[in-house]
Amino acid sequence: MEKEKITILGATGSIGKNALDVIAMHPERFEVEAITGGNNIELLISLAQQYRPKYVAIANEDYYNQLKEACNHSDIQVFAGQKGLKEVAHIPVDRTVAAISGISGLGVLMEAIPFCNYLLLASKEALITAWPIIKQEANKYQTQILPIDSEHNSLFQLMQTDMLPDNWIEKIILTASGGPFYGHNYEDLSNVTPAQACRHPNWSMGAKISLDSATLMNKGLEIVEAAYFFNVSPKKLDILVHKQSVVHAMLYYCNGNIKAGLNYPDMRIPIAYCLHYPQCVEEHQLPRLDLAEIGELHFEQVDYTCFPSPKLMFNAIEQGRHAVIVANAANEITTHAFLDLKIGFHDIYKINEKITDIIAAQFTVNDCQSIESVLDIDTYSKMRTNKLLQQY
Ligand code: NDP
Ligand code: MG
Repeated sequence: MEKEKITILGATGSIGKNALDVIAMHPERFEVEAITGGNNIELLISLAQQYRPKYVAIANEDYYNQLKEACNHSDIQVFAGQKGLKEVAHIPVDRTVAAISGISGLGVLMEAIPFCNYLLLASKEALITAWPIIKQEANKYQTQILPIDSEHNSLFQLMQTDMLPDNWIEKIILTASGGPFYGHNYEDLSNVTPAQACRHPNWSMGAKISLDSATLMNKGLEIVEAAYFFNVSPKKLDILVHKQSVVHAMLYYCNGNIKAGLNYPDMRIPIAYCLHYPQCVEEHQLPRLDLAEIGELHFEQVDYTCFPSPKLMFNAIEQGRHAVIVANAANEITTHAFLDLKIGFHDIYKINEKITDIIAAQFTVNDCQSIESVLDIDTYSKMRTNKLLQQY
Protein backbone atom coordinates (compact mmCIF):
# COMPACT_ATOMS: atom_id res chain seq x y z
CA MET A 1 0.00 0.00 0.00
CA GLU A 2 1.30 3.41 -0.90
CA LYS A 3 1.81 5.64 2.10
CA GLU A 4 -0.50 8.60 2.56
CA LYS A 5 1.18 11.99 2.64
CA ILE A 6 0.12 14.22 5.50
CA THR A 7 0.62 17.96 6.08
CA ILE A 8 0.14 19.44 9.53
CA LEU A 9 -0.61 23.15 9.80
CA GLY A 10 0.06 24.07 13.43
CA ALA A 11 2.32 21.07 14.13
CA THR A 12 3.83 22.70 17.23
CA GLY A 13 0.44 22.92 18.97
CA SER A 14 -1.45 20.44 21.08
CA ILE A 15 -3.52 19.04 18.17
CA GLY A 16 -0.50 19.09 15.86
CA LYS A 17 1.63 17.07 18.28
CA ASN A 18 -1.19 14.60 18.90
CA ALA A 19 -1.58 14.14 15.14
CA LEU A 20 2.15 13.48 14.76
CA ASP A 21 1.91 10.99 17.60
CA VAL A 22 -0.84 9.02 15.83
CA ILE A 23 1.07 9.18 12.53
CA ALA A 24 4.14 7.73 14.27
CA MET A 25 2.02 4.75 15.37
CA HIS A 26 1.49 3.84 11.68
CA PRO A 27 4.79 4.23 9.84
CA GLU A 28 3.56 1.77 7.19
CA ARG A 29 0.50 3.92 6.37
CA PHE A 30 1.54 7.56 6.73
CA GLU A 31 4.43 9.85 5.98
CA VAL A 32 4.71 13.45 7.08
CA GLU A 33 5.02 15.64 4.01
CA ALA A 34 5.05 19.09 5.63
CA ILE A 35 4.77 20.74 9.04
CA THR A 36 4.31 24.35 10.10
CA GLY A 37 4.80 26.30 13.31
CA GLY A 38 4.11 29.85 14.46
CA ASN A 39 6.78 31.01 16.92
CA ASN A 40 7.99 27.90 18.68
CA ILE A 41 11.17 27.45 16.66
CA GLU A 42 12.87 25.01 19.05
CA LEU A 43 9.95 22.62 18.94
CA LEU A 44 9.53 22.95 15.18
CA ILE A 45 13.20 22.09 14.65
CA SER A 46 12.96 19.12 16.96
CA LEU A 47 9.79 17.86 15.19
CA ALA A 48 11.51 18.30 11.82
CA GLN A 49 14.45 16.24 13.05
CA GLN A 50 12.18 13.57 14.47
CA TYR A 51 9.61 13.24 11.65
CA ARG A 52 11.78 14.18 8.66
CA PRO A 53 9.10 15.97 6.58
CA LYS A 54 10.01 17.16 3.08
CA TYR A 55 8.92 20.71 3.87
CA VAL A 56 8.82 22.83 7.00
CA ALA A 57 7.56 26.39 7.46
CA ILE A 58 7.64 28.87 10.34
CA ALA A 59 5.17 31.78 10.35
CA ASN A 60 7.54 34.15 12.14
CA GLU A 61 10.10 35.14 9.50
CA ASP A 62 12.67 36.12 12.14
CA TYR A 63 13.35 32.42 12.66
CA TYR A 64 14.00 31.60 9.01
CA ASN A 65 17.80 31.50 9.32
CA GLN A 66 17.71 29.42 12.49
CA LEU A 67 15.38 26.92 10.82
CA LYS A 68 17.43 26.89 7.63
CA GLU A 69 20.62 26.23 9.56
CA ALA A 70 19.07 23.41 11.58
CA CYS A 71 17.85 21.71 8.38
CA ASN A 72 21.08 22.35 6.44
CA HIS A 73 22.33 18.79 6.46
CA SER A 74 19.05 17.26 5.38
CA ASP A 75 16.76 17.28 2.31
CA ILE A 76 14.15 19.30 4.18
CA GLN A 77 13.06 22.44 2.34
CA VAL A 78 12.52 25.45 4.56
CA PHE A 79 9.99 28.29 4.24
CA ALA A 80 8.96 31.27 6.38
CA GLY A 81 6.26 33.91 6.75
CA GLN A 82 2.69 33.83 5.49
CA LYS A 83 4.03 33.36 1.97
CA GLY A 84 6.03 30.33 3.15
CA LEU A 85 3.00 28.82 4.86
CA LYS A 86 1.04 29.30 1.66
CA GLU A 87 3.72 27.51 -0.39
CA VAL A 88 3.62 24.58 1.99
CA ALA A 89 -0.20 24.51 1.81
CA HIS A 90 0.08 24.21 -1.99
CA ILE A 91 2.01 20.95 -1.88
CA PRO A 92 -0.39 18.17 -2.92
CA VAL A 93 -1.06 15.67 -0.14
CA ASP A 94 -3.66 13.09 0.83
CA ARG A 95 -4.64 14.76 4.09
CA THR A 96 -4.05 18.13 5.72
CA VAL A 97 -4.57 18.67 9.42
CA ALA A 98 -5.71 22.28 9.99
CA ALA A 99 -4.73 23.03 13.59
CA ILE A 100 -3.62 26.65 13.74
CA SER A 101 -5.37 28.37 16.63
CA GLY A 102 -7.53 31.44 16.14
CA ILE A 103 -8.77 33.02 12.94
CA SER A 104 -5.13 33.38 11.87
CA GLY A 105 -5.45 29.80 10.60
CA LEU A 106 -8.15 30.73 8.09
CA GLY A 107 -6.04 32.03 5.19
CA VAL A 108 -3.67 29.07 5.00
CA LEU A 109 -6.51 26.59 5.49
CA MET A 110 -8.27 28.04 2.44
CA GLU A 111 -5.03 27.76 0.47
CA ALA A 112 -4.74 24.09 1.43
CA ILE A 113 -8.23 22.98 0.38
CA PRO A 114 -7.54 22.53 -3.36
CA PHE A 115 -4.41 20.48 -2.63
CA CYS A 116 -5.68 17.74 -0.30
CA ASN A 117 -8.30 15.01 -0.53
CA TYR A 118 -9.28 15.31 3.12
CA LEU A 119 -9.09 18.39 5.30
CA LEU A 120 -8.97 17.36 8.97
CA LEU A 121 -10.37 20.46 10.59
CA ALA A 122 -9.54 21.43 14.17
CA SER A 123 -9.35 25.24 13.81
CA LYS A 124 -12.81 26.07 15.12
CA GLU A 125 -12.39 29.84 14.89
CA ALA A 126 -11.76 29.51 11.15
CA LEU A 127 -14.70 27.15 10.73
CA ILE A 128 -17.27 29.33 12.49
CA THR A 129 -16.24 32.61 10.89
CA ALA A 130 -16.09 31.37 7.29
CA TRP A 131 -17.97 28.07 7.02
CA PRO A 132 -19.96 28.69 3.80
CA ILE A 133 -16.82 29.90 2.03
CA ILE A 134 -14.74 26.96 3.28
CA LYS A 135 -17.49 24.52 2.30
CA GLN A 136 -17.89 26.03 -1.16
CA GLU A 137 -14.15 25.76 -1.81
CA ALA A 138 -14.14 22.16 -0.54
CA ASN A 139 -17.08 21.28 -2.82
CA LYS A 140 -15.32 22.89 -5.76
CA TYR A 141 -12.23 20.70 -5.29
CA GLN A 142 -14.06 17.64 -3.92
CA THR A 143 -12.13 17.86 -0.70
CA GLN A 144 -13.88 16.14 2.18
CA ILE A 145 -13.84 17.98 5.49
CA LEU A 146 -13.63 15.84 8.63
CA PRO A 147 -14.15 17.38 12.07
CA ILE A 148 -11.44 16.75 14.66
CA ASP A 149 -13.16 18.51 17.56
CA SER A 150 -14.23 15.62 19.81
CA GLU A 151 -17.94 16.51 20.05
CA HIS A 152 -18.29 17.06 16.31
CA ASN A 153 -16.22 14.01 15.54
CA SER A 154 -18.65 11.96 17.65
CA LEU A 155 -21.64 13.57 15.92
CA PHE A 156 -20.10 12.92 12.53
CA GLN A 157 -19.76 9.25 13.45
CA LEU A 158 -23.31 9.11 14.82
CA MET A 159 -24.65 10.58 11.62
CA GLN A 160 -22.66 8.23 9.40
CA THR A 161 -24.88 5.26 10.06
CA ASP A 162 -28.12 6.65 8.58
CA MET A 163 -29.09 9.25 6.11
CA LEU A 164 -30.93 11.37 8.61
CA PRO A 165 -33.76 13.53 7.34
CA ASP A 166 -33.73 16.77 9.31
CA ASN A 167 -37.10 16.12 10.93
CA TRP A 168 -35.87 12.84 12.46
CA ILE A 169 -33.56 14.73 14.77
CA GLU A 170 -35.30 16.27 17.73
CA LYS A 171 -32.25 17.54 19.53
CA ILE A 172 -28.46 17.40 19.49
CA ILE A 173 -26.55 17.60 22.75
CA LEU A 174 -22.95 18.63 23.01
CA THR A 175 -21.41 17.86 26.36
CA ALA A 176 -19.18 20.29 28.23
CA SER A 177 -16.62 19.26 30.81
CA GLY A 178 -17.33 22.52 32.62
CA GLY A 179 -13.62 23.32 32.81
CA PRO A 180 -11.72 23.84 36.05
CA PHE A 181 -14.26 26.18 37.69
CA TYR A 182 -17.59 24.48 37.23
CA GLY A 183 -19.52 24.37 40.50
CA HIS A 184 -17.92 27.54 41.88
CA ASN A 185 -20.14 30.57 42.40
CA TYR A 186 -19.82 33.85 40.53
CA GLU A 187 -17.92 35.71 43.28
CA ASP A 188 -15.39 32.86 43.65
CA LEU A 189 -14.33 33.40 40.06
CA SER A 190 -13.56 37.12 40.30
CA ASN A 191 -9.92 36.61 41.18
CA VAL A 192 -8.92 33.42 39.42
CA THR A 193 -5.53 33.40 37.69
CA PRO A 194 -4.57 32.35 34.14
CA ALA A 195 -2.69 29.35 35.55
CA GLN A 196 -5.84 28.16 37.35
CA ALA A 197 -8.01 28.83 34.30
CA CYS A 198 -5.74 26.86 31.97
CA ARG A 199 -5.54 23.83 34.27
CA HIS A 200 -8.18 21.78 32.47
CA PRO A 201 -9.36 18.74 34.44
CA ASN A 202 -9.58 16.29 31.50
CA TRP A 203 -7.67 17.56 28.48
CA SER A 204 -4.24 19.00 27.88
CA MET A 205 -4.73 21.71 25.25
CA GLY A 206 -3.39 25.06 24.05
CA ALA A 207 -3.82 28.07 26.35
CA LYS A 208 -6.63 29.77 24.41
CA ILE A 209 -8.92 26.75 24.14
CA SER A 210 -8.20 25.85 27.78
CA LEU A 211 -9.35 29.31 28.85
CA ASP A 212 -12.33 29.07 26.47
CA SER A 213 -13.23 25.85 28.29
CA ALA A 214 -13.04 27.61 31.65
CA THR A 215 -15.46 30.37 30.53
CA LEU A 216 -17.54 27.82 28.56
CA MET A 217 -17.02 30.06 25.50
CA ASN A 218 -15.51 26.96 23.92
CA LYS A 219 -18.94 25.33 24.07
CA GLY A 220 -20.47 28.47 22.57
CA LEU A 221 -18.01 28.27 19.67
CA GLU A 222 -18.80 24.57 19.34
CA ILE A 223 -22.54 25.21 19.18
CA VAL A 224 -21.84 27.42 16.16
CA GLU A 225 -19.49 24.77 14.78
CA ALA A 226 -22.24 22.13 15.04
CA ALA A 227 -24.97 24.40 13.65
CA TYR A 228 -22.88 25.24 10.59
CA PHE A 229 -21.07 21.95 9.98
CA PHE A 230 -24.19 19.79 10.30
CA ASN A 231 -26.57 22.45 9.00
CA VAL A 232 -28.93 22.23 11.99
CA SER A 233 -30.99 24.95 13.58
CA PRO A 234 -29.51 26.27 16.84
CA LYS A 235 -32.95 25.60 18.33
CA LYS A 236 -32.16 21.90 18.09
CA LEU A 237 -28.80 22.29 19.82
CA ASP A 238 -28.25 22.15 23.53
CA ILE A 239 -25.46 21.67 26.07
CA LEU A 240 -25.20 19.41 29.09
CA VAL A 241 -22.37 19.63 31.57
CA HIS A 242 -20.70 16.23 31.84
CA LYS A 243 -17.55 16.58 33.89
CA GLN A 244 -16.24 13.15 32.99
CA SER A 245 -15.87 13.99 29.25
CA VAL A 246 -16.70 10.41 28.33
CA VAL A 247 -19.88 11.08 26.35
CA HIS A 248 -19.05 13.72 23.75
CA ALA A 249 -22.33 14.20 21.90
CA MET A 250 -25.83 12.77 21.75
CA LEU A 251 -28.39 12.56 19.02
CA TYR A 252 -32.01 12.56 20.17
CA TYR A 253 -34.42 11.10 17.64
CA CYS A 254 -38.04 12.19 17.30
CA ASN A 255 -39.12 8.66 18.32
CA GLY A 256 -37.52 8.81 21.77
CA ASN A 257 -34.27 7.02 20.91
CA ILE A 258 -30.92 8.50 21.77
CA LYS A 259 -27.55 7.69 20.26
CA ALA A 260 -24.46 8.74 22.14
CA GLY A 261 -20.81 8.95 21.11
CA LEU A 262 -18.39 7.79 23.79
CA ASN A 263 -14.67 7.36 24.01
CA TYR A 264 -11.81 7.94 26.40
CA PRO A 265 -11.01 11.67 26.55
CA ASP A 266 -7.89 11.66 24.41
CA MET A 267 -7.76 13.81 21.26
CA ARG A 268 -5.68 11.17 19.50
CA ILE A 269 -8.87 9.08 19.17
CA PRO A 270 -10.83 11.56 16.98
CA ILE A 271 -7.59 12.47 15.18
CA ALA A 272 -6.92 8.80 14.39
CA TYR A 273 -10.51 8.42 13.17
CA CYS A 274 -9.97 11.28 10.72
CA LEU A 275 -6.54 10.06 9.60
CA HIS A 276 -7.92 6.63 8.68
CA TYR A 277 -11.39 7.64 7.49
CA PRO A 278 -13.33 5.98 5.88
CA GLN A 279 -11.47 2.93 7.19
CA CYS A 280 -11.62 1.82 10.80
CA VAL A 281 -8.11 0.74 11.79
CA GLU A 282 -7.13 -0.97 15.02
CA GLU A 283 -5.34 1.36 17.42
CA HIS A 284 -3.44 -0.74 19.96
CA GLN A 285 -1.83 2.22 21.63
CA LEU A 286 -4.88 4.39 22.23
CA PRO A 287 -6.69 4.13 25.57
CA ARG A 288 -9.94 2.21 25.96
CA LEU A 289 -12.89 3.33 28.01
CA ASP A 290 -13.68 1.03 30.93
CA LEU A 291 -17.31 1.76 31.72
CA ALA A 292 -17.44 -0.71 34.61
CA GLU A 293 -14.55 1.16 36.23
CA ILE A 294 -16.30 4.49 35.68
CA GLY A 295 -19.51 3.03 37.11
CA GLU A 296 -21.75 6.07 36.73
CA LEU A 297 -22.19 8.82 34.18
CA HIS A 298 -23.25 12.26 35.43
CA PHE A 299 -24.93 15.10 33.57
CA GLU A 300 -26.22 18.49 34.70
CA GLN A 301 -27.74 21.65 33.27
CA VAL A 302 -25.45 24.54 32.41
CA ASP A 303 -25.26 27.30 35.02
CA TYR A 304 -25.64 30.25 32.65
CA THR A 305 -25.49 32.77 35.51
CA CYS A 306 -21.89 31.88 36.20
CA PHE A 307 -21.00 30.91 32.63
CA PRO A 308 -23.07 33.02 30.23
CA SER A 309 -20.74 32.77 27.19
CA PRO A 310 -22.63 30.00 25.32
CA LYS A 311 -25.73 32.22 25.29
CA LEU A 312 -23.74 34.92 23.54
CA MET A 313 -22.98 32.48 20.74
CA PHE A 314 -26.54 31.11 20.55
CA ASN A 315 -27.67 34.72 20.05
CA ALA A 316 -24.90 35.40 17.55
CA ILE A 317 -26.02 32.48 15.32
CA GLU A 318 -29.54 33.84 15.33
CA GLN A 319 -28.22 37.27 14.37
CA GLY A 320 -26.03 35.96 11.55
CA ARG A 321 -22.46 35.00 10.78
CA HIS A 322 -21.30 38.65 10.97
CA ALA A 323 -22.21 38.55 14.68
CA VAL A 324 -20.32 35.28 15.11
CA ILE A 325 -17.22 36.88 13.55
CA VAL A 326 -17.46 39.88 15.89
CA ALA A 327 -17.96 37.75 19.02
CA ASN A 328 -15.09 35.46 18.04
CA ALA A 329 -12.80 38.44 17.38
CA ALA A 330 -13.63 40.04 20.71
CA ASN A 331 -13.01 36.74 22.45
CA GLU A 332 -9.60 36.30 20.81
CA ILE A 333 -8.58 39.68 22.24
CA THR A 334 -10.15 39.28 25.68
CA THR A 335 -8.77 35.77 26.25
CA HIS A 336 -5.26 37.06 25.52
CA ALA A 337 -5.89 40.11 27.73
CA PHE A 338 -6.88 37.80 30.59
CA LEU A 339 -3.83 35.59 30.00
CA ASP A 340 -1.69 38.78 30.09
CA LEU A 341 -3.29 39.73 33.44
CA LYS A 342 -4.93 42.86 31.97
CA ILE A 343 -8.52 41.96 32.81
CA GLY A 344 -10.37 39.67 35.22
CA PHE A 345 -12.19 36.43 34.43
CA HIS A 346 -15.69 37.95 34.29
CA ASP A 347 -14.48 40.83 32.11
CA ILE A 348 -13.96 38.36 29.27
CA TYR A 349 -17.69 37.81 28.85
CA LYS A 350 -18.66 41.40 29.67
CA ILE A 351 -16.39 42.81 26.96
CA ASN A 352 -17.29 40.12 24.42
CA GLU A 353 -20.97 40.87 24.93
CA LYS A 354 -20.56 44.63 24.75
CA ILE A 355 -18.48 44.51 21.57
CA THR A 356 -20.85 42.04 19.90
CA ASP A 357 -23.79 44.24 20.82
CA ILE A 358 -22.26 47.39 19.39
CA ILE A 359 -20.26 46.13 16.42
CA ALA A 360 -22.48 43.37 15.01
CA ALA A 361 -25.23 45.94 14.47
CA GLN A 362 -22.93 47.76 12.03
CA PHE A 363 -22.83 44.79 9.62
CA THR A 364 -25.13 42.29 7.98
CA VAL A 365 -24.56 38.76 6.78
CA ASN A 366 -24.00 40.14 3.27
CA ASP A 367 -20.87 41.84 4.55
CA CYS A 368 -19.00 38.58 5.15
CA GLN A 369 -19.25 36.67 1.88
CA SER A 370 -15.51 36.55 1.09
CA ILE A 371 -12.45 35.67 3.16
CA GLU A 372 -11.23 39.26 2.82
CA SER A 373 -14.48 40.66 4.21
CA VAL A 374 -14.48 38.13 7.08
CA LEU A 375 -10.96 39.23 7.97
CA ASP A 376 -11.94 42.91 7.66
CA ILE A 377 -14.76 42.51 10.18
CA ASP A 378 -12.41 40.52 12.40
CA THR A 379 -9.71 43.22 12.27
CA TYR A 380 -12.18 46.03 12.91
CA SER A 381 -13.80 44.17 15.84
CA LYS A 382 -10.38 43.48 17.34
CA MET A 383 -9.40 47.12 17.03
CA ARG A 384 -12.61 48.19 18.78
CA THR A 385 -12.09 45.57 21.50
CA ASN A 386 -8.54 46.79 22.10
CA LYS A 387 -9.86 50.34 22.36
CA LEU A 388 -12.42 49.29 24.95
CA LEU A 389 -9.69 47.43 26.84
CA GLN A 390 -7.84 50.69 27.38
CA GLN A 391 -10.54 51.57 29.92
CA TYR A 392 -9.55 48.58 32.06
P1 NDP B 1 -2.12 25.45 20.45
O1 NDP B 1 -2.09 26.82 20.98
O2 NDP B 1 -1.58 24.34 21.25
O3 NDP B 1 -1.38 25.42 19.02
C1 NDP B 1 -1.68 26.35 18.03
C2 NDP B 1 -0.83 26.11 16.80
O4 NDP B 1 -1.06 27.16 15.87
C3 NDP B 1 0.67 26.12 17.09
O5 NDP B 1 1.31 25.29 16.17
C4 NDP B 1 1.04 27.59 16.82
O6 NDP B 1 2.40 27.79 16.56
C5 NDP B 1 0.19 27.83 15.59
N1 NDP B 1 -0.10 29.24 15.37
C6 NDP B 1 -0.67 30.11 16.22
N2 NDP B 1 -0.79 31.32 15.64
C7 NDP B 1 -0.28 31.21 14.41
C8 NDP B 1 -0.15 32.11 13.30
N3 NDP B 1 -0.55 33.39 13.39
N4 NDP B 1 0.41 31.65 12.16
C9 NDP B 1 0.82 30.37 12.06
N5 NDP B 1 0.71 29.46 13.06
C10 NDP B 1 0.16 29.88 14.21
O7 NDP B 1 -3.65 25.16 20.06
P2 NDP B 1 -4.42 23.76 20.03
O8 NDP B 1 -3.60 22.75 19.31
O9 NDP B 1 -4.93 23.46 21.37
O10 NDP B 1 -5.68 24.15 19.14
C11 NDP B 1 -5.58 24.34 17.74
C12 NDP B 1 -6.98 24.53 17.17
O11 NDP B 1 -7.70 23.32 17.38
C13 NDP B 1 -7.79 25.63 17.88
O12 NDP B 1 -8.61 26.26 16.94
C14 NDP B 1 -8.63 24.86 18.88
O13 NDP B 1 -9.83 25.50 19.20
C15 NDP B 1 -8.89 23.57 18.12
N6 NDP B 1 -9.15 22.41 18.98
C16 NDP B 1 -8.19 22.02 19.89
C17 NDP B 1 -8.42 20.94 20.72
C18 NDP B 1 -7.38 20.45 21.68
O14 NDP B 1 -7.57 19.41 22.31
N7 NDP B 1 -6.26 21.11 21.83
C19 NDP B 1 -9.71 20.21 20.67
C20 NDP B 1 -10.59 20.66 19.64
C21 NDP B 1 -10.32 21.74 18.84
P3 NDP B 1 3.48 28.09 17.75
O15 NDP B 1 3.04 27.37 18.96
O16 NDP B 1 4.74 27.54 17.12
O17 NDP B 1 3.51 29.56 17.91
MG1 MG C 1 -14.43 20.11 21.70
